[in-house]
Amino acid sequence: MKVLPVVFNPNYHINGWETSHRFPMPKYQLLYQLLVEEGICDPKKFHQASPAPRNALERVHLPSYLDDFLAGQLDAKMMRRIGLPWSEGLVARTLASSGGSLMAGRLALELGIACNLGGGTHHAFPDYGAGFCIFNDVSVALRQLRAESRIRRALIVDLDVHQGDGTAWIHREEPEIFTFSMHCEVNFPFRKQQSDLDIPLSEGMEDKEYIEILENHLPFLIRDHQPDLIFYNAGCDPHVDDPLGKLKLTSEGLMARDTLVFETAVQAGIPIAAVLGGGYSRDHHEIAQRHSIVVRAASNVYKNTHESGIPSP
Ligand SMILES: [Zn+2]
Repeated sequence: MKVLPVVFNPNYHINGWETSHRFPMPKYQLLYQLLVEEGICDPKKFHQASPAPRNALERVHLPSYLDDFLAGQLDAKMMRRIGLPWSEGLVARTLASSGGSLMAGRLALELGIACNLGGGTHHAFPDYGAGFCIFNDVSVALRQLRAESRIRRALIVDLDVHQGDGTAWIHREEPEIFTFSMHCEVNFPFRKQQSDLDIPLSEGMEDKEYIEILENHLPFLIRDHQPDLIFYNAGCDPHVDDPLGKLKLTSEGLMARDTLVFETAVQAGIPIAAVLGGGYSRDHHEIAQRHSIVVRAASNVYKNTHESGIPSP
């Protein structure tokens, strides 16, 4: 039986993380453990993310920003904007997480679907980070794959509850990369950037309406843009119990959303790489459960695609 290609690196979690910090760092480790326990992820078969290479990072980020962050020399104001305390562990995590999304993109091109159990840091701009985001992993991966001529066109489907403002800005003059963001309109970032298509959602939106909006756009975006690869930011923060979300999707709604995204991509014959994106809870096990939904959805669609004899993309 084929196993969903999953990318992970133990460095996604920072040892000794202050558990009271509002960023739920332990979720990465707990998610991986959960997926292994449930047989969705095979510890012998997962793909270990390598740190993103410097030349790939420089396709998006300013060398001075990279140097200052890596050396722990960003000033206090810039670190406050990021919202995470600097450490060697944070450097290792940031490099591995960006490298992981690049690896997931490569695996998706080869195998049809892949998931990075990290990444989705879509508030990162070329010369600064914000909202727990330091490097823009999806933009780095897409620029690198384009530079290698692995792809020409791509679609970013960003369903994290917050607008993918860094991503929108980075690709604002790059017609080959189409940015699509569905987000809660009254949520962070309060100064939005312009994606190729933004769908601001009203506060408190529930499953049915959300899924209908997605169904009414995604197949047409794929048809019109003809991407060679889709990157999916599967933030689970639209969940009703997410303290930063302001939408009211249930876990069943997230499963329906994620399944819809993978099935639509597969039916169109387009490879798709998913990254984790945001998701918050004081209960780290609960948030790991919520993030596992996208991996379950990917795994189901991957197995069905391969076992029913439908040719993989
Ligand atoms: Zn978010």
